[in-house]
Amino acid sequence: MFDDKKTYTTPISSLGEFGLIDRLTRDFSIQNSETVVGIGDDAAVLHFNDEKIVVSSDVLVENVHFNLGYVPLRHLGYKAVVVNLSDIAAMNAVPKQILVNLAVSNRFPVEALEEVYDGIRLACQKYKVDLVGGDTTSSQLGFVISITAIGSAKEHEITQRKGAKDKDLIVVSGDLGAAYMGLQVLEREMITFKSNPNLQPNIEEYTYIVERQLKPEARTDVKTILNELGITPTSMIDVSDGLASELLHLAKHSDLGFHVYEDKLPVDPHVISACDEFKISHTTAVLNGGEDYELLFTIPITEHEKIAKHPDFTIIGYTSEAHKESTLILSGSENHIPLTAQGWNAFVE
Ligand code: ADP
Ligand code: MG
Repeated sequence: MFDDKKTYTTPISSLGEFGLIDRLTRDFSIQNSETVVGIGDDAAVLHFNDEKIVVSSDVLVENVHFNLGYVPLRHLGYKAVVVNLSDIAAMNAVPKQILVNLAVSNRFPVEALEEVYDGIRLACQKYKVDLVGGDTTSSQLGFVISITAIGSAKEHEITQRKGAKDKDLIVVSGDLGAAYMGLQVLEREMITFKSNPNLQPNIEEYTYIVERQLKPEARTDVKTILNELGITPTSMIDVSDGLASELLHLAKHSDLGFHVYEDKLPVDPHVISACDEFKISHTTAVLNGGEDYELLFTIPITEHEKIAKHPDFTIIGYTSEAHKESTLILSGSENHIPLTAQGWNAFVE
């Protein structure tokens, strides 16, 4: 979605590859002492003292992961960074650097790419990470953006998907289901807009859920909060594909059952009203929706007091060695139903 107020006239070919890289990256500055050499040489040089390095990468493909019909380019750049920082946060590490790889077709003018980089720069500033390199090439079809994030943590701080213990508490940050419901609204408005372009999109009353879809945030603050509370999580993952899928990942890697209470799932009132309107159960939106980028983790039951009243976190269940099939405990009952993952899968139509 291009910004009406700007002109998009400069073809990439008029700058050439090096001119383009220079144009896109010239306004970035280095913020971390761990970055010794950034963009401009054959490789970046990084220096970490005695910390472990964590690295993660994601690729986003036009019309598979995003639709430029309703995703503004600036948001695309921002979100592409955030989803990677979320993976670093999910290791209980601190993100420090990113690399950005682009494959772009000639239908994109330079100004459109600059908007993507405006979003990338905003995310770099907000999360204090340095852009230290990448690669730029042409594409026959659509737009592909791949980002690699690098972070660090002390060895004992790093938290994996494995590591949960019997009778740990299952905790999630923030609230869930909003990004999925935001997507429902955007898709509906795009269909309405296509059938009658004079209709203005009606998304104002859905600001919260649409923002959660278009401009998610990475919970890099969770590590700091847990440090302050004196809690070390035993296992952790970020909620990118839907809570059910992430619970099953932790359960599998930790070789335990994960049991969560339906009536404890954190859902914002805006999600409940959107679910009513779209006739979707909000439990379904939470379990299968995805893209919330909250953190899901386990802590020893002895830490209950420290976290129970914290506004950023909700205890949603417990782990069990004795009952290894993970379940959802239905509201107002003792009924357990097996958890199944219907989260987003790139290879299913
Ligand atoms: P090489 O030919 O060695 O791959 P490039 O000419 O592709 O080098 O890149 C020159 C510099 O610009 C390198 O530091 C590279 O990491 C950086 N770079 C290239 N493309 C991008 C991009 N899309 N975003 C950020 N940095 C980039
Ligand atoms: Mg290159």
